[in-house]
Amino acid sequence: MVHIGQWKDKTVTISQKINSLTISIETTNETLVFSFDKSGRLWTALVKKISYRRGLNGSIVAKWSSGREVLHRKWLDLPEQEWLLNLSHNTIQSLLNDTNFSFTVFSPPIHTSTIQELSKLSEITQKFYLNDVSNYHSVYKPVGILPPDQYISVVLQLTEGCSFNKCTFCTFYKERPFIIKSPNEFEQHIMDVKKFLGNGLSLRRTIFLGDANALVVPMNKIIPLMEIIHNHLDVEKLGGIFAFLDGFSGERKSIGDYQKLRDLGLNKIYIGLESGNNQLLKFLNKPGSALDALNAVRTIKSSGISVGIIVLLGAGGKQYGENHITDTIEIINQMGLDADDLVYFSELIESEGLEYSQKAFSENLEPLSGVERQEQRKRIEEQLLFSDFGTPHISTYDIRDFVY
Ligand code: SF4
Repeated sequence: MVHIGQWKDKTVTISQKINSLTISIETTNETLVFSFDKSGRLWTALVKKISYRRGLNGSIVAKWSSGREVLHRKWLDLPEQEWLLNLSHNTIQSLLNDTNFSFTVFSPPIHTSTIQELSKLSEITQKFYLNDVSNYHSVYKPVGILPPDQYISVVLQLTEGCSFNKCTFCTFYKERPFIIKSPNEFEQHIMDVKKFLGNGLSLRRTIFLGDANALVVPMNKIIPLMEIIHNHLDVEKLGGIFAFLDGFSGERKSIGDYQKLRDLGLNKIYIGLESGNNQLLKFLNKPGSALDALNAVRTIKSSGISVGIIVLLGAGGKQYGENHITDTIEIINQMGLDADDLVYFSELIESEGLEYSQKAFSENLEPLSGVERQEQRKRIEEQLLFSDFGTPHISTYDIRDFVY
């Protein structure tokens, strides 16, 4: 329900949904927008044309565009986080405390429960957020990365870390052992996650099995673990279960295995293909070959589960560039992807300490510029062929945007 009213010279819009409350305060010059989950956590904001998104772990990313549509990004430091959180709750407090403000002027009239919710939001202070972040860290080990369409999921760490952990371009799980939770540990984890999210669970869509490759867990272990999820969460209502399959180093599952997992709610599997070129995969120290990835995709899709394929742009620089393009096109075109699937293009993000960068330096690889990486994407994308059942959604996967 959307309610619109006036406050001084401002238009106030309150959007009350089953899973969130959004308040927008607009003048001719400025628009302030704050959205909260049902536990009262700030989720997104818009202030001075800068959009903010807060993760459950307390981090907040700010994004804005310059006149020429170049996107800027900044992770807020602690004082900046406090400023934004205070602004959001204090703005509601000012509204409620102002004797010139009356809910009676809203159209349609505002329900008492919405006024109570606003009142609770106005009372939230830094202490609430400090507790919340501390609770987050007691529930979760660091969540390394998620696919962009899963930032709003309920992450359940059935496993922790990566069973392979040796790819030269990836630092998400370095220094962390790979752990499969026991049924008791996993059940406790799910209960802890639910308690932590509280009413904020209603904002979450989908369940994501952490971390990097929960699906390498053998069938005799993963089936009871997935059954436990159903004892605590309405999997269907949440939109199903999603997971990465990365590093084809564990038990290879059959179509029948995946069908069993699909029956337990597994909806989509994200596969870090990176490239269709085996020499490049070797250079990246990625486990398995392009053919392994193709076979896995065919098996998964035959079981009725959809896939998200991730391609690494810029990997291998100019030396590998041409083969990366042609072999990636060739392998993806054999996958029979359709409208249920996704293709993500993810740019290689280099840093000084990255093993990839050191290896690229010692082999004198010539890096691709940002423009050349986008050209690489364009050339791959233009030549992709899909099945008769529609075209997958093709999108950008920028790991620097990740927030949970
Ligand atoms: S398999 Fe995936 S998560 Fe593991 S090190 Fe390689 S890229 Fe990183």
